[in-house]
Amino acid sequence: MRRTKALAGIGIVAAALLALTGCNSGSPSNPGGGGGDNGGGDKPLFEVAKDVKLDGSPTFDAMKKRDGVVIGVKEDQPGLGYLDATTGERTGFDVDIARWIAASLGFDEKQITFKPIASVNREQSIVNGDIDYYVGTYSITDKRKTQIDFAGPYFVTGQGLLIRKGDPDADKLEDFNGKTVCSATGSTPIQNIKANFPQIKTQEYDLYSACVQDLLDKKVDAVTTDQAILIGFAAQYPKDLKVTGGLFTEERYGVGLKKGDTALQQHINTLFTDGHDTWQKIFDKNLGKSGIKVEQPKVD
Ligand code: GLU
Repeated sequence: MRRTKALAGIGIVAAALLALTGCNSGSPSNPGGGGGDNGGGDKPLFEVAKDVKLDGSPTFDAMKKRDGVVIGVKEDQPGLGYLDATTGERTGFDVDIARWIAASLGFDEKQITFKPIASVNREQSIVNGDIDYYVGTYSITDKRKTQIDFAGPYFVTGQGLLIRKGDPDADKLEDFNGKTVCSATGSTPIQNIKANFPQIKTQEYDLYSACVQDLLDKKVDAVTTDQAILIGFAAQYPKDLKVTGGLFTEERYGVGLKKGDTALQQHINTLFTDGHDTWQKIFDKNLGKSGIKVEQPKVD
């Protein structure tokens, strides 16, 4: 199925991993309520649109009525979707993409409510209307499309491996036959292992950070999920952990939306298509020093 496609455009620069955590922490979250700053605190990455009209979008109508937007995110994935528990600051590529979409709909930072939602609960939260949209390493799949719609893709990565430094080299999933690999419940990587690698034992949690803790504690032998996520965790523990191997799948990230809201889907797709410069600024700010090399993908 989805396991062998490697992506030539993505690479890891080991030395740059160390820089990632630093790059996450230096960006105050837009205290002026504008469109997110550029990491230097001065020029916004994007403007908040005024007098937005979006006919035929029930989600947008609901946002207007409550004068705010509720966005589902991750908050334990450095570089992508991260909440600093001390400062309360949210950072990451996905979080800034989420803010950019909100700004394009006329909502500033003060009008955004971020809701942390684990991988396994994403579809249901969207179906229930608990959130207006979801931005959090959310792969576009046909199975998920039976319940929800996606805008995008806005990012492409693939399944990779995180191991302990000092352990024997292992860079393929097959190397973990008979060993225990951890991933998040409901994620595409855990589904891939269960479907295609029956000899690998699995440990599942709602959050990848729990898997990373188990890896540090030597309770599991590897963590597997998208390489872009693993690079962020490796940067948190540069002395202990490293990303290994290539990309075993192609994971195309989309914005999760209520099924049938094509007006909002079109709006976001147009934003991505017309907004390449902004996409690039958001990438550079959050992942520019990570060693991840990704071009903005074309929307579907
Ligand atoms: N991108 C994969 C997925 O959507 C793995 C990352 C995640 O769990 O968010 O399942």
